[in-house]
Amino acid sequence: MLLAVLTAAAAIQPAIVQKPIPFPATRRAETAAYARKHYGLDTWELRNPRVIVEHLTANTSFASTFATFAPDRPDAELHELPGICAHFVIDADGTIYQLVPLTVMCRHTVGLNYTAFGIEHVALSDAAVLSNPRQLDSSLQLTAWLMQKYGISLGNVIGHNESLTSSYHRELYRPWRCQTHGDWRRADMDVYRARLSVVARRERVPLGPPARHVALRC
Ligand SMILES: [Zn+2]
Repeated sequence: MLLAVLTAAAAIQPAIVQKPIPFPATRRAETAAYARKHYGLDTWELRNPRVIVEHLTANTSFASTFATFAPDRPDAELHELPGICAHFVIDADGTIYQLVPLTVMCRHTVGLNYTAFGIEHVALSDAAVLSNPRQLDSSLQLTAWLMQKYGISLGNVIGHNESLTSSYHRELYRPWRCQTHGDWRRADMDVYRARLSVVARRERVPLGPPARHVALRC
């Protein structure tokens, strides 16, 4: 009986396919240099993650997403090292791939990489994910599991497009202070969070306090 209670109180870890991108000493050193410049931190490690950022790949295959993240080269938009990445990629069929360990900082969201996990969805629009039950179910399960594992509140599960109003947003490099992307706007994330709260309640994952949005300073 006690075991049943304990089991009921734990979010179910979804099946995760390990597909690591290369993260050798050079990439770790570049990540630490990035963390110094942008966050004033001297580490490549992801310490005390407080935020989960949902993304779109804006392409239609896991293979091309992996091919974008695996090479350690300057990104096409901001021209900086290390290469961009995300901790997870969820394919359109619902398969969850893990590319980077949860203890490693990954470049996916300007202003939040020091404290955020990144989850990519292979899709061209927020609506495509919300209308794909297999992909959405995997995403909700993965996110609920991370929420419970790290004590991350529902309000700190955000879309990339919400990054600038996160209370955790921090960017020391002035030209990037207002930089964000268009994937996962608030209206779509409100739908996503409503669905996520159902999964979290069912699996006894604490929702935490409401999100504290900071005013847009851009
Ligand atoms: Zn994004």
